[in-house]
Amino acid sequence: MTMRTPARQGKFGEYGGRWVPESLVPACFAVADAFEEAWADPAFRGELTTMLARHVGRPTPLTAVSRLSAELGVTVVLKREDLTHTGSHKINNAVGQALLARRMGKRRLIAETGAGMHGVATATAGALLDLPVTVFMGEEDVERQAHNVFRMRYLGAEVAPVRAGSRTLKDATSEAMRHWVGATDEAHYCLGSVVGPHPYPWMVREFQRVIGEEAREQYAAVPDFVVACVGGGSNAAGTFAGFADTTAQLVGVEAVGGSGATSGQAGVLHGSRSLFLQDEHGQIREAHSIAAGLDYPGVGPEHAYLRDLGRARYVAVGDDAAVAAAGQLARTEGIIPALESAHALAWVAEAAGTPDLPAGSTVLLTLSGRGDKDITTLIARSEETVR
Ligand SMILES: *Cc1c(COP(=O)(O)O)cnc(C)c1O
Repeated sequence: MTMRTPARQGKFGEYGGRWVPESLVPACFAVADAFEEAWADPAFRGELTTMLARHVGRPTPLTAVSRLSAELGVTVVLKREDLTHTGSHKINNAVGQALLARRMGKRRLIAETGAGMHGVATATAGALLDLPVTVFMGEEDVERQAHNVFRMRYLGAEVAPVRAGSRTLKDATSEAMRHWVGATDEAHYCLGSVVGPHPYPWMVREFQRVIGEEAREQYAAVPDFVVACVGGGSNAAGTFAGFADTTAQLVGVEAVGGSGATSGQAGVLHGSRSLFLQDEHGQIREAHSIAAGLDYPGVGPEHAYLRDLGRARYVAVGDDAAVAAAGQLARTEGIIPALESAHALAWVAEAAGTPDLPAGSTVLLTLSGRGDKDITTLIARSEETVR
């Protein structure tokens, strides 16, 4: 019922759609048609499954975290996307779209990136399939995420710094779309989350569905709660897709700075209608979070719809709580999570034992990535604390 294939206009209730310049409409239709056909083709699905097994390391395990659970008073099991090749769930979608691009006869890939994880994933998929990659990245993020910039270039990708606006993810996405307008014949735009014009919110959710489907099978029973962090919302959408038809309560955790579903208003950005942070004039406000991957001023249209339906809840957590939760997981379980995923952990820690998350509940939580990329941020944080 919920989380099925949207109709041709790509609407999720009043959200979604294809709000793009005239010149991009044919390209969006072409991607939608190609994806629909590929997704129904057992040969494409088989090739993707093989690549995910050989190059990405799927299936990723579930880990029962008993020491953390004992501290929190709820039973937490982690879905370990942090253990994928390149270190986050982004690779599932990047490999899927790269295979689709090759099937469509495209000769190169375009991508946007914020923290750099989607850029690294796309650069990796491009290297695997011999497709040149151009990654648009805000100038501020190029400075903040030097390690990932080097990784992308080392993998053979071109990193194009974007000087417009706040010089972060929103501007990188706008610039990638602008570049695609002039190159739709030869290039595929490999968007990194469940945002943008149809078919991206649907297609990216389907490429991330593997998280939820594996977890559903591995978990055996149905957890009381399914929790994931939300930037644009792709790891959450992929996780939720495996549990949408169960009794599990779905919870998306945003960063306070980047909250779209919790405090945004309906509007249009990057080709789709959804919930975005806006000022009183309808101008998009900048998101700001310690987790660069959650620094997007809105959420994907399907999350806006799930919120309206009451099927999923969206909550928000601040920087300090996320940093504390990352430290708690490291000390109790020996896992350093990405600061994005730490937001989901922080909500569980805050809510455990309250009516929002009663003591003794079972929780499946998607650990979207590992914390290696955040070490510099964590070092700066601990120096501040020491001072
Ligand atoms: C990019 C990223 C996110 C946020 O993106 P979604 O599309 O909301 O999943 C979360 N966690 C990690 C580790 C990321 O790299």
